[in-house]
Amino acid sequence: MGEFDLIARYFTRPVRRAALGVGDDCALLAPAPGMQLAVSSDMLVEGRHFFADVDPEALGHKALAVNLSDLAACGARPLAFTLALSLPRVDETWLAGFSRGLLALADAHGCELVGGDTTQGPLNLCITVFGEVPTGQALLRSGARPGDDLYVSGTLGDARLALEALLGHAPLPAEVLARARQRLERPTPRVALGQALRGIASSAMDLSDGLLGDLSHILKASGVGAHIDTYITSNLIAEKAYLSGENGHFHLEFIRQCTLAGGDDYELAFTAPPARRGAVAAASQASGTPVTRIGTVLAEPGLQLVDAGGQAVEHRYASFDHFR
Ligand code: ADP
Ligand code: MG
Repeated sequence: MGEFDLIARYFTRPVRRAALGVGDDCALLAPAPGMQLAVSSDMLVEGRHFFADVDPEALGHKALAVNLSDLAACGARPLAFTLALSLPRVDETWLAGFSRGLLALADAHGCELVGGDTTQGPLNLCITVFGEVPTGQALLRSGARPGDDLYVSGTLGDARLALEALLGHAPLPAEVLARARQRLERPTPRVALGQALRGIASSAMDLSDGLLGDLSHILKASGVGAHIDTYITSNLIAEKAYLSGENGHFHLEFIRQCTLAGGDDYELAFTAPPARRGAVAAASQASGTPVTRIGTVLAEPGLQLVDAGGQAVEHRYASFDHFR
């Protein structure tokens, strides 16, 4: 099978919203009047972001999910994406699974595959997504103000738990690993929540490298600090019952590592004034996405972590950095 047959079979879909999709030199796409285009790219490299033997269907899902998560963080509605793919060989079983996972998530969000590039080489995937957001209403990292509440969506740390287990660092029963692994391999981009938070959240971002490290970007961009209740964040790991139960021999320290610096969560972290608590609750309800208040924005720069007794928690949870 040649390059063009491969593109035709696995990556060519009729487009509805874009004026032109796969097959010409460019795709053609316009945001609706009054909307801005939100654009983001994310690359996934074998051995770096995923194991060589990962289920291709899950990989297709994740490659698009991490990109949709960036649109969610800006409050944008997904429109379309391009896929640049470098493949060691044509493996039709792999391609069928990969495109199934990719296009199922694309369909679920009405996000059309409009073009890309395909070459031979080490396995490497790069997606660029395009979304739309009403002009001036995108959620940014720079809007957090002292006194704002600090929130995260969903759960934290389960992807890291699965990663530690797969690396042989944390033995887990098969059913616990299976659940945590879903969070690592098939993250849920919080697209509906991001849009529901437009006009409510003062700042937002998605969590890919770990809560504390990612949060520091919001704090820096906004010129503020924050206080975080770690007894609340420690409860946000979905496998909490196992980890702290009779059979779980994991320490609070490990739970903190996963929840505060886990990485691969793809949840949203955002801030909003206390006067908008009702509106945040309504956005959570309307989008079917749980959110939890985990702290407060402070005028003084820096992150203060506090435990249940009000004691300061020493903060040494580095976030993921490819070059460190
Ligand atoms: P060009 O040589 O002009 O860059 P290509 O021959 O690389 O074009 O690609 C032909 C068409 O197929 C283009 O419309 C391109 O966007 C599309 N395409 C190539 N690879 C992919 C892919 N992996 N997924 C979706 N569309 C693709
Ligand atoms: Mg080309």
